[in-house]
Amino acid sequence: MSRLDLHLHTTHSDGSCTPTEVIDLAHKAGVSALAITDHDITTGIAEAIAAGQQCGIEVIPGVEISSIIANSELHILGYFLDWQDADLNQRFKSMRDSRHRRNPKIIERLQALGIEMTYDEVRAVAGSDSVGRPHIARVLMDKGVVASAKEAFDRFLAEGKPAYVPRDLPSPAEAIQWIKAARGLAVLAHPTWVKPADRSLADLVRQLKADGLDGVEVYYSTHAARQTREYLSLAKQLGLLVTGGSDFHGLTKPDIEVGIGKGALHIPTSLLPKMKEAATQL
Ligand code: AMP
Ligand code: ZN
Ligand code: FE
Ligand code: FE
Repeated sequence: MSRLDLHLHTTHSDGSCTPTEVIDLAHKAGVSALAITDHDITTGIAEAIAAGQQCGIEVIPGVEISSIIANSELHILGYFLDWQDADLNQRFKSMRDSRHRRNPKIIERLQALGIEMTYDEVRAVAGSDSVGRPHIARVLMDKGVVASAKEAFDRFLAEGKPAYVPRDLPSPAEAIQWIKAARGLAVLAHPTWVKPADRSLADLVRQLKADGLDGVEVYYSTHAARQTREYLSLAKQLGLLVTGGSDFHGLTKPDIEVGIGKGALHIPTSLLPKMKEAATQL
C-alpha cells in the first residue's frame, strides 16, 4: 500500500534519526514520496534525496517555520522551494541565531529551579545548528529529571511553564512570503494546534490565504477523524490544497511513526500531483 508523508524531522533539527534513517523507515512503511521539513534549516535535504534515490523514494524539499500571531505559535510548512536559495537560507540562519539567544535563557531558568545543566550539553545532544526545546528535553531526560519529553514540556518548557522563554518569530504573512520568494508552496501545519484567538479558524485561514497560503495539512498524526473532516471541508471551501504528514521526530515523539503516525494515518498519494501542478504555476 503506497502512501505519502510530507512532514518529517531529522537530526538536522530536533528529530533523532538521520535523513538516511528516516528514508529507511519510510521504505519499510511503504511510503513512496516524502518531504523533509526540519525547523529553520535545509541541510538535511541533500542526504535525503541521495538516500531516496537508492530505494526509489521521491524526496520533496521542505521546511517548517514557526510564526507568531495573537501571542500564539502557528507553523507554516514550505514545499518544493528552492532550498539552496541564498536569501531563504540567510533568513533561516537569523532564526537559528534567535534560537541561540533564547536557549541559554531557558537554561538559566532551569538552573534557577535547581537543575544543573549547561547550554554546551544541549548543543552536544543537538549536533546541528537548529537547536530547540526538544533537545533541552532530551538533556533533562538523560539527567533523570524527567521520564519523557512530554513531561519536560508539561513541567518546564511549554508556553506558560516556568522555564518558557519566547523567541523572535516572524508573522505568518512573513513566513509565507519567504516561502513564496523561494518559489515554494506555503501550507498551514497541524491546524489542531492553532489557537485562532477571538475569531474562527475559518476566518484565520481565509486571512492566511489572502497572505498567499496555498494549502492546509489536513491529515496529521493527532487529528481526530472529526477534525480531518472539518479541515478537509475548510480546504475545499477556500480552494486550498490538501496535504498531510506524520510530524515524525523519533525519540522526541516516540508514539509517532513514519508514514502511519499513531497507526491510523493514511495520506493518499493522489494529493501529490495536485501539489506538483500548483508548484509549477508559481
Ligand atoms: P522550539 O522550536 O524550540 O520552539 O520547540 C518546538 C518543538 O517542540 C516542536 O517541534 C514541537 O513538536 C515540540 N513540542 C512542543 N510541545 C511539545 C510537547 N508538549 N511534547 C513534545 N514536544 C513538543
Ligand atoms: Zn520539531
Ligand atoms: Fe510544527
Ligand atoms: Fe513539525
